[in-house]
Amino acid sequence: MNLKTDTMKIGSYELHAIETGEFALDGGAMFGIIPKVFWEKKIPADDKNRIPLRLRALLISGNGKNILVDDGIGTKEDDKFSSIYKIDHSRFALESSLSKHGLSCNDITDVILTHFHFDHAGGSTKLDGKGNLVPTFPNATYYIQRKNLQWAKDPSEKDQASFTKANFEPLLEANLLKELDGPCELYPGIEILVVEGHTPAQQLVKVSDERTSLLYCGDLIPTSAHVQIPWIMGYDNHPITTLGEKKRILEKAADEKWVLFFEHCPLMAACRPVRTAKGFDCGEKIEI
Ligand SMILES: [Zn+2]
Repeated sequence: MNLKTDTMKIGSYELHAIETGEFALDGGAMFGIIPKVFWEKKIPADDKNRIPLRLRALLISGNGKNILVDDGIGTKEDDKFSSIYKIDHSRFALESSLSKHGLSCNDITDVILTHFHFDHAGGSTKLDGKGNLVPTFPNATYYIQRKNLQWAKDPSEKDQASFTKANFEPLLEANLLKELDGPCELYPGIEILVVEGHTPAQQLVKVSDERTSLLYCGDLIPTSAHVQIPWIMGYDNHPITTLGEKKRILEKAADEKWVLFFEHCPLMAACRPVRTAKGFDCGEKIEI
């Protein structure tokens, strides 16, 4: 692993953060029971109480594959939706971030979707020149947990605003979506972990060799501020389940010196967490 050149290598894979854009969500909803006086010191809110967030995918290249983990919020939403969520592709966009690595959407072989919330899987489909919804990565196999797809098709009133059929129906029609049942080793050195607190069967991706492990944390630990145990999103369906899952993963990560990769953090792409008297802290900040 070489931090100086911004290239992280794990086994035969090269890993790169792919910044697909920026958006904002209500700070209170992002931090659940944590009072604003605490969270605003970490990430200040705008005049509508929203905090700035990234839409950071992960590219894993090697062994003849270009694997993308999550694909951002996409470009097919209307102006009203874009203004509610302050969607901004002026600094970062999926295509331009891929092109920095000599890739286009056609070169992506696999898309591992943590879950079908619109800020994780919105980039899976796009509008073509004729206004038809089509898969963004026509040559890729997309992976989702079967339970999460089932929930996305029939969500609860609490979280139905986070799902839209436009993000998965075109994939099903094109026969590009593969459903996984539980944790597995998808490819050598690329492991799928499954957690249940945020949404049914969210899948996290762990890339490992004998020296280094990196975990794509998805919405289990969406920002570096959420490394603190009780900092749990109000969006979570089962916050106590999230608490147990976070603790278990942070304990392992601290003991085995994993790199944690944050999908939404505006402060850092990744860190190597450490134990503290109160729980856990970000420790060494890592750019990827
Ligand atoms: Zn989510």
